[in-house]
Amino acid sequence: MKMVIGIDSGSTTTKVVQMSEGKVKHYLVLPTGPNSERTATRMLQTAQQECNISADDIATIVATGYGRANISMANKQVTEITCHAKGAASIFPGAQAIIDIGGQDSKIIKIDSTGRVLDFIMNEKCAAGTGRFLDVMCRVLEVGIDDIGPLSLSSSEPVQISSTCTVFAESEVISHVARGTPVEDIVAGICSAISARVYGLGRRILTGCTKIIFTGGVAKNQGIVKGLEDRLGLQLLVPPNPQIVGAIGAAFIGQETLKGEV
Ligand code: ADP
Repeated sequence: MKMVIGIDSGSTTTKVVQMSEGKVKHYLVLPTGPNSERTATRMLQTAQQECNISADDIATIVATGYGRANISMANKQVTEITCHAKGAASIFPGAQAIIDIGGQDSKIIKIDSTGRVLDFIMNEKCAAGTGRFLDVMCRVLEVGIDDIGPLSLSSSEPVQISSTCTVFAESEVISHVARGTPVEDIVAGICSAISARVYGLGRRILTGCTKIIFTGGVAKNQGIVKGLEDRLGLQLLVPPNPQIVGAIGAAFIGQETLKGEV
């Protein structure tokens, strides 16, 4: 059975998905690093070895994400908005909207039942409201990115982070550390600040939507999931691996292209 490959070359991580007959057979997620093409090529080689397939077993490769134009081995390049929409609709049929928070951008996309994009808004100009904001704060607090969610949920008195700019917010965090504020309260304040920012960005698009998917690496953070759910007043749909939704969408588009559906 021939494989279809979806590659999401993100600003922070690269995701490679192998799909056959609409099912994800294998995936890898690794830091993109300074050379996005080399990273994607090596990851595809690793994926082929791990699944014991050769280049002849690959029917097509679709690239998406910030670095998609660099992925010269791809047969097709598709925007991440289109791929996220397709991936989300395939994972949660009937989904009405997507909140995607990645390493350097956040986007809110409204979709129809087939995964077609109806409207979207994107923040790619500012680190606040993205994973970058969290990564900067993790360094200041000497806390692992995986620990942010659980720590945030254990806070009883979240601090207020009033600066919207990452650089000023970092100074606020440093002064909280100097004052001896418990780390969980600082982390909860950080999660709340990102949630508020993304909610503010997407409120217009999300109004009236009840089935909303949360994707991107930041969707692994339970503190942000809760922060957004509290503001939206509903439970978000979070896929088992929210980081690979764009790559899954790219693979789906590859499959549809082969069938002549797009
Ligand atoms: P991009 O597609 O833009 O490269 P990703 O969707 O891979 O970005 O998201 C990367 C971000 O996800 C990181 O900046 C980090 O803040 C966050 N992240 C990654 N892994 C985790 C984790 N285990 N828990 C919480 N957040 C995470």
